[in-house]
Amino acid sequence: MVFFRKEDTIAGTNKAAAETDDFTTLKQALDRAALPPAAAKIAAIELERLKKTDPSQPEYAISHGYLTFLADLPWAKATDDNLDLKRAQTVLDTEHFGLGPVKERVLEFLAVQNLRNQRKFDLLVVDDERIARTNLAYLLAKEGYRVEAAANGLEAMELLNKRRFDLVLTDLKMDKMDGNQLLEAAKQLNPDIQVIMITGYATVGSAVEALRKGAAHYLPKPVDIAELRSVVRQLLDRKKQLQINRGPVLCFTGPPGTGKTSIGRGIAEALGRRFVRISLAGLRDEAELRGHRRTYVGAMPGRIMTEIRRVGVNNPVLMLDEIDKIGQDFQGDASSVLLELLDPEQNNRFVDHYLDAPFDLSAAIFITTANVIERIPGPLRDRLERIDFSGYTEMDKLTIAQRYLLPRQLAAAGLNPQTIAFQDAALLKIIREHTREAGLRGLEREIAAVCRKLARLCVMDPAGGATPSVDEPMVANLLGPGKFVHETRRAEGRVGVVPGLVWTEAGGELMFVEAGIMAGGQQLTLTGSMGQVLQESAQTALSYVRGQAAAFGIPADFFARSDIHIHLPSGAIAKDGPSAGLTIAVALISLLTQRPARPDVAMTGELTLSGRIMPIAGLREKIMAAQREGIRKVIVPKANAADLQRLEPELVEGLEVFLADDVAAVVAQALAEPGAPHSSI
Ligand code: ADP
Repeated sequence: MVFFRKEDTIAGTNKAAAETDDFTTLKQALDRAALPPAAAKIAAIELERLKKTDPSQPEYAISHGYLTFLADLPWAKATDDNLDLKRAQTVLDTEHFGLGPVKERVLEFLAVQNLRNQRKFDLLVVDDERIARTNLAYLLAKEGYRVEAAANGLEAMELLNKRRFDLVLTDLKMDKMDGNQLLEAAKQLNPDIQVIMITGYATVGSAVEALRKGAAHYLPKPVDIAELRSVVRQLLDRKKQLQINRGPVLCFTGPPGTGKTSIGRGIAEALGRRFVRISLAGLRDEAELRGHRRTYVGAMPGRIMTEIRRVGVNNPVLMLDEIDKIGQDFQGDASSVLLELLDPEQNNRFVDHYLDAPFDLSAAIFITTANVIERIPGPLRDRLERIDFSGYTEMDKLTIAQRYLLPRQLAAAGLNPQTIAFQDAALLKIIREHTREAGLRGLEREIAAVCRKLARLCVMDPAGGATPSVDEPMVANLLGPGKFVHETRRAEGRVGVVPGLVWTEAGGELMFVEAGIMAGGQQLTLTGSMGQVLQESAQTALSYVRGQAAAFGIPADFFARSDIHIHLPSGAIAKDGPSAGLTIAVALISLLTQRPARPDVAMTGELTLSGRIMPIAGLREKIMAAQREGIRKVIVPKANAADLQRLEPELVEGLEVFLADDVAAVVAQALAEPGAPHSSI
């Protein structure tokens, strides 16, 4: 006989009660979550398993964790959209300076959402019994649909031939043409049409046949009104969602810190939706997106479902950030996962391996961002509509800093934005000497640093530590010497060192191309992480200069006795593209003629072997970089003249632009006379 101590039995009872409680709470949570049938089935099986598992077993915790995750997901939770465009415009305008074309495109996007959302659906009711068809038509019209009725299949086909319907509700048994024949004929006419079959002779066989032929649903007579309403609404909601999401996915493209995330957030705010941002930079494994199967120890859901659970609704604005930066060593096909995610036909059944049941993501709005869209594989890129964020001018940055960044950072540092002001000159000093970027990240960081230092002064010396008006010397004092000095502001040029304008993922940049010569024999060395295209440009430039040596007053046999070395600084950063060809040729001519290059004249252009100057991409970014770096004159291919015309006049203000189609003219603009004062490398 076994004797229990009293404490044991009490503890045992409590434990059992706690388990029951736990189980009931979980079951209730699952009921509340309104799981769709497929997930509900899995949940029921898992609940049964949990019931039979001893809580001390590790399987219990795994099973419990899984069910909690299922219950936590927003299967049926969504926010209502605010489709007021005027309000959307105000939201975008008040929070963002400039970005005119971007805002316009975003508003068009929202307008299309709005119209698609408001579209009324056309329904056709087909029944040979007059009363049945009138009742059905009346009921559906009351639900807000546009409804027409037909007394038989032939009459229905006549209507279907005349105009487009979204949904047909038809009786199965009818004279002349029955429901199944109508279904086939209607589908032939319009494969997208949805058909609900209704019949008084409900048999499993007839239902299966109708569904096999492509009916969307099957309802027995007498029709249960609540069921009918719900089936029709579900089918049409899905159709509406597909329509809303069809069309390209927006891809915000541009350098870091240019407001891509911020505009994405603005769209969510304008629509009254939640915002989720998932960075894909450095993603290495499909499982990071889609989760691990539960058979793995420590399996977890992927990032998408984790974020959906966190945000608590199934229709957020979901920003997939930096889709061009998915890790090089990605296991599996990254773009096919993304294609599936972005395709409205497929993302209503998104399967996370951990979840193991399809989740409907079709109500979410996907927005992607990329620094360089060209890096995205073709099929995925085709799904995207590129919207360019090209960067800000100095004046834009100043305005944004005064209006947005400064008040935010002052408040973050605990200072009162009303009592402390920054002079424009102080901010310009930060912009020019402490940052070198197309966007605003560095600027915001530096402003934050100044604000923190001011806060410290305020606290340490409340009487007079922090001035209410921050000026240039104060910034110099707080931030120390500038990080960036403008080489272009040097008075003298150098031989063989030519400022070129290049385009990188951080936006436009000024880069000094260096050419050197040494005794040797016919060897060309290229350094500075040059890509294939850039290397070929350098070879072409050298061949061009050798071929035209006489015209430039260069000894014809210079290469026979020497080696040439071309270097692009910031050696660790990979560079590629054809647009440095012209700069390399001019650097060589400068070197070989000993004519120093003017430090404030920068150029860009692709050079062919015969000396033609071909157009380049990224003109806007390059012009901005020239402005930022204090360049006085830019040399641009003549073939880019139309692009130049399209730029806002203030972008080129104060900048002399020389349109070039001939290397000799470029040389005349960019190089000083031999013997002009210059400094050595
Ligand atoms: P990205 O996503 O392109 O890297 P962010 O959206 O994170 O850039 O922007 C960086 C910072 O600059 C944010 O604080 C953002 O609010 C601010 N910002 C960017 N563009 C603007 C703008 N046009 N007006 C106001 N603030 C801006």
